[in-house]
Amino acid sequence: MSHSPVTRADGEVVGIARCDFAIWREIPDNRLQPTMRATQVIMHSMASPGTTPEDLIRYWSQPGTPLESHFIVGRDGRAWQLVDTGRSADANYRANRRPDGTGAISIETEDNIGGPDTLPWTAAQIDTLVRLALWAARVHGIPRRRCPSPSSPGIGFHTMWGAPSEWTPVSKTCPGTIRIRQFNQTVLPAIVAGAAGGGLSVADANSLERHLDVIQEKIERTFNQVNIKTGDLANRVETVESKVERTFNQVNSTTDALSGRVDDVAAQVAQLQADMVLVKEALGIP
Ligand SMILES: [Zn+2]
Repeated sequence: MSHSPVTRADGEVVGIARCDFAIWREIPDNRLQPTMRATQVIMHSMASPGTTPEDLIRYWSQPGTPLESHFIVGRDGRAWQLVDTGRSADANYRANRRPDGTGAISIETEDNIGGPDTLPWTAAQIDTLVRLALWAARVHGIPRRRCPSPSSPGIGFHTMWGAPSEWTPVSKTCPGTIRIRQFNQTVLPAIVAGAAGGGLSVADANSLERHLDVIQEKIERTFNQVNIKTGDLANRVETVESKVERTFNQVNSTTDALSGRVDDVAAQVAQLQADMVLVKEALGIP
């Protein structure tokens, strides 16, 4: 399910990297973008109230639409992956892919029901952001720390170096005032500690659900096969039964015929005995 990238001696990453707890939804740019070696994770907000992650994926699924990211995290904690993390995505200006081939993994976050300056990340969103960063640290060896500079490996948010800056050509607050506070107070400390929240995240639950779907399909297929075999067996039992019945009927009719003949013989013997009595009387034999 999860594919690890292969880093060649010259630093070029080949192959693909997909997160095993994200929903894979490839967009056209995944085939067009150059490969990169992921050294950073940069977090964003969609900044488009009324737009769901599915809406954004549909938009990016049209050819030529700009500023795609690798991941989107919904308010319910679900994660979608659109681009392999061994390829660059265009949400981070100069950090998309630097001349040395390194670049940032970008994560968009949903703010469907409000502005990201005032609408905080949900607990489920924070949990998934932490898990994605830990996944990126494990798969790509990205250090679990705040990026010390715009080009140094680590974790950051879009306007961490100001706006405009190396990470954005325009003025903005992405991922939003209140979310930047959450990044500093909750998200980054959890990533540095290397610990996601306790229990199952929504992303884990989704992953489990997909595995369960596969298992259920297998069980259904096996059940159907057993059903077909059972049906075959029942047919064969019926065939054997009807053969037994036919043989039994034949034996019965043969027995009837035989007992008829035995009756005939008995009648003949009785006739003979009667004849003998008449003969004896005629001859005067007592
Ligand atoms: Zn952004």
